[in-house]
Amino acid sequence: MSSYDVIIIGSGPGGYVCAIRCAQLGLKTACVEGRETLGGTCLNVGCIPSKALLHATHMLHEAEHNFADMGLKGKSPSVDWTQMQAYKDKTIGQNTSGIEYLFKKNKIDWLKGWGSIPEAGKVKVGDEVHEAKSIVVATGSDVATLPGVEIDEKIVVSSTGALSLGKVPKRLAVIGAGVIGLEMGSVYRRLGSEVTVIEYLDHVTPGMDGEVQKTFQKLLKKQGLNFVLGAAVEKVDATKTKAKVTYTSRKDDSEATVEADVVLVATGRKPYTEGLGLDALGVKTTDRGVIETDGEWKTSVDGVYAIGDCISGPMLAHKAEDEGMAVAEVIAGKHGHVNYGVIPSVIYTHPEVAAVGETEEALKEAGRAYKAGKFSFMGNGRAKANFAADGFVKILADKETDRILGAHIVGPMAGDLIHEICVAMEFGAAAEDVAMTCHAHPTYSEAVREAALACGDGPIHM
Ligand SMILES: Cc1cc2nc3c(=O)[nH]c(=O)nc-3n(C[C@H](O)[C@H](O)[C@H](O)COP(=O)(O)OP(=O)(O)OC[C@H]3O[C@@H](n4cnc5c(N)ncnc54)[C@H](O)[C@@H]3O)c2cc1C
Repeated sequence: MSSYDVIIIGSGPGGYVCAIRCAQLGLKTACVEGRETLGGTCLNVGCIPSKALLHATHMLHEAEHNFADMGLKGKSPSVDWTQMQAYKDKTIGQNTSGIEYLFKKNKIDWLKGWGSIPEAGKVKVGDEVHEAKSIVVATGSDVATLPGVEIDEKIVVSSTGALSLGKVPKRLAVIGAGVIGLEMGSVYRRLGSEVTVIEYLDHVTPGMDGEVQKTFQKLLKKQGLNFVLGAAVEKVDATKTKAKVTYTSRKDDSEATVEADVVLVATGRKPYTEGLGLDALGVKTTDRGVIETDGEWKTSVDGVYAIGDCISGPMLAHKAEDEGMAVAEVIAGKHGHVNYGVIPSVIYTHPEVAAVGETEEALKEAGRAYKAGKFSFMGNGRAKANFAADGFVKILADKETDRILGAHIVGPMAGDLIHEICVAMEFGAAAEDVAMTCHAHPTYSEAVREAALACGDGPIHM
């Protein structure tokens, strides 16, 4: 039996970041991971592989659509799917082995196997029981499917199967117009699949700003994605080679079907806590299996903490990472803090979509007086040169104080641009603070400044 100050169960962005920070703070640390490689969902079957495929297929799109106009003539590249998969797998390997290196560097023990908590202060991995003053549950999430839809990871796939299909399907049906569905839908559309996205709500990207939803859907439609909105999927009938999705229109109850060679179920994820023994231990969870925690990520059992996708809040890698660092500080007797009001969310399609803070809909519902400053990428020189002028930046600020309340971007590098606003919001900045900051020319970031100017006396280039 080994004794540790902290044992973390799960090595995703929440778990591995927590382990590194614990070690940096001088705590004897171990991390339990049942997968063959470290890094969790994010590095193995989530953020990293999906971004590799998005990058490769975006390059293909550029070559097919924009190269000739820039005077780059010649044969368009053809797709070698096996090589693209190898590139994706190599990227995963580089990232997961990077975490292994960081564990060694920080003297963190990787306890290989599936862990459980037989009692407070103890973690069982295989036949071995280890002692820990503090235990952090960072076991992440798993795919949530719909009743009547069985995932076989061949014809009816989750995001995991969609990342590693044997071949590019001729027809792909995607159930769910959220981030994962639209990212993977974009990947296969660019590779030539006929993509139909079926969504229960009347709009894409639930929870995002309404104007963003409309613009984004229009742009994706222009790229060739088909949308069936307001449709409740009833069942998926699969054979060995294809599948049929049956749905009911929420408007008039009529039934219709979509046939596809592959169906991607992208209807969300649920906390993964199987086999941990939480019930017997007395750790409280909600009826949806979410582990309940207080403001210091403490569960209902002393010495047991939880972070990341298995607790409440957005299921995002950077939210898990921030909680991982903060809970390490708490365990080390310091102050850990996560500002849940400033967590950006990004969709890595082209154009990208990024958001932070309040939406216009939420501000209206709260009866809050606000102003919106908007600037189109059509007025941004760099975006025009780069064939990336679709979309806009919108900044929402308090009508009286000018303090920034939120920002929404559809456009090139939106996922990077949003962080200027995140920092501004962390510092309680006004839109005028961003507007008065010199921004290099020509950069996409000038569109952020122009949107901030639009909150005041008006933008220059519009
Ligand atoms: C296709 C896809 C794309 C995504 N893209 C993005 C993105 O671009 N940006 C973003 O922010 N988020 C993205 N996400 C979400 C992101 O992956 C998660 O929010 C993030 O991984 C959560 O981190 P975590 O540490 O809570 O858990 P996870 O990353 O899920 O890691 C949990 C780990 O715990 C291990 N584990 C579970 N139980 C046990 C046990 N009993 N014993 C030992 N080990 C155990 C699991 O094997 C797993 O490795 C994506 C997700 C998917 C599926």
